[in-house]
Amino acid sequence: MKEGQLVVPEQVTVPFIEGDGVGSEITPVCQRIVNKAVELAYKGRRSIEWMEVLAGGKAFAQTGEWLPEATMAAFREYLVGIKGPLTTPVGGGIRSLNVALRQTLDLYVCLRPVRWFKGVVSPVKEPQKVNMHIFRENTEDIYAGIEWEQGTPEAQKLYAFLRDEMGVKKVRFPETSSFGVKPVSVEGSKRLVRSAILYALQHGLPSVTLVHKGNIMKFTEGGFKKWGYEVAEQEFGDHTFTMNQFEQLKKDLGEESARACMADAVNAGKIIVKDCICDAFLQNTLLMPEDYSVIATLNLNGDYVSDQLAAMVGGIGIAPGANINYQTGHAIFEATHGTAPNIAGKNVVNPCSLLLSSVMLLEYLGWKEAAVRITAALEKAFAQGEATPDLARFMPDGKPMGTAEFGERIVTLLLEE
Ligand code: NAD
Repeated sequence: MKEGQLVVPEQVTVPFIEGDGVGSEITPVCQRIVNKAVELAYKGRRSIEWMEVLAGGKAFAQTGEWLPEATMAAFREYLVGIKGPLTTPVGGGIRSLNVALRQTLDLYVCLRPVRWFKGVVSPVKEPQKVNMHIFRENTEDIYAGIEWEQGTPEAQKLYAFLRDEMGVKKVRFPETSSFGVKPVSVEGSKRLVRSAILYALQHGLPSVTLVHKGNIMKFTEGGFKKWGYEVAEQEFGDHTFTMNQFEQLKKDLGEESARACMADAVNAGKIIVKDCICDAFLQNTLLMPEDYSVIATLNLNGDYVSDQLAAMVGGIGIAPGANINYQTGHAIFEATHGTAPNIAGKNVVNPCSLLLSSVMLLEYLGWKEAAVRITAALEKAFAQGEATPDLARFMPDGKPMGTAEFGERIVTLLLEE
């Protein structure tokens, strides 16, 4: 990183975690496709050296540790890495390896782009209207893991404190309640929304929607909305027009003038920053997905939103993702599905979640030409019904292909471009 910008050498070393279960099937396929796309796009001027680092079951088998320090050190040093799915250790100190990676590197954005590929069967009527980029806050909210089980001395102590010192009288069944704490901070919310607005600016996207449940959780989710609007107005005033400003203009000048100002802002290429309550948002994504582009939201909302939107464009096998700290530059791109033990070793797993995450990695490096080539090859394959069985079985002219064969087909399509 130099002055807030990623400086990328022509030869990049990328640490990768192969992944457990289906990881050993999807990782080599993706690397072969990425290598070919980079070679074709840059004719040898640029290349990626893949450096394996261990985590998960493979790490435990070889080193007795689920997440060796050497792996963390590699991600820290090389900034940009990629990972396959990892088995969640049962028992022991680590709750989830993914959470450990995110927390250690403070990867505060979980980025999930969601788009539809022609040919992929979708449960919605007009999937071509779905094109969103979800910025899910990754470090706070109820996910902070601050909770106490009902019946424990800790839960009773917390309740006594709430009752005696904070005057809380609203717990319906205090003796049998578990308790959780939901921290949502100014800095945590602002850095997330800042990243979302910057992304919209850099990618020429029309709007950022703050998705929250501030009507009920006024200080946490409502705070997120308030601080989000502050970022837009105070830090990006020349580039944004917010619904806050719209409401103020409506009060001062009337609705017609407010609408005219918004139309002017849109014509001037400004980003519209608006907000939506999460339950309404989930409904709206089904009814009018074209109204949304970049989404900025809190951790738990983001979890639900990501899965619904992924299902709308083809589901778990094809949804890419990344965890990013835009300040330090650290980023880990990942398969968003699990280790799929029920299909591991059968050559049927869909490599597209990891492959599209690799495309995101290339874009993050600024290697757009290689990224575009892979996306174009995937578009061609899906349009012809060529896909792994999870997708092909729903396509009217579907031609189910094994993981390895599908990978080779994508390489062939790259060569034909
Ligand atoms: P899973 O995602 O592995 O599988 C759910 C279902 O989706 C299965 O039927 C599976 O066959 C199918 N599926 C998943 N990915 C697919 C693909 N690429 N192509 C075709 N079908 C696919 O979820 P699970 O079974 O709940 O979890 C299995 C293990 O993975 C657990 O140990 C869990 O903790 C772990 N997990 C890891 C991650 C991660 O590392 N990011 C995420 C979720 C689950």
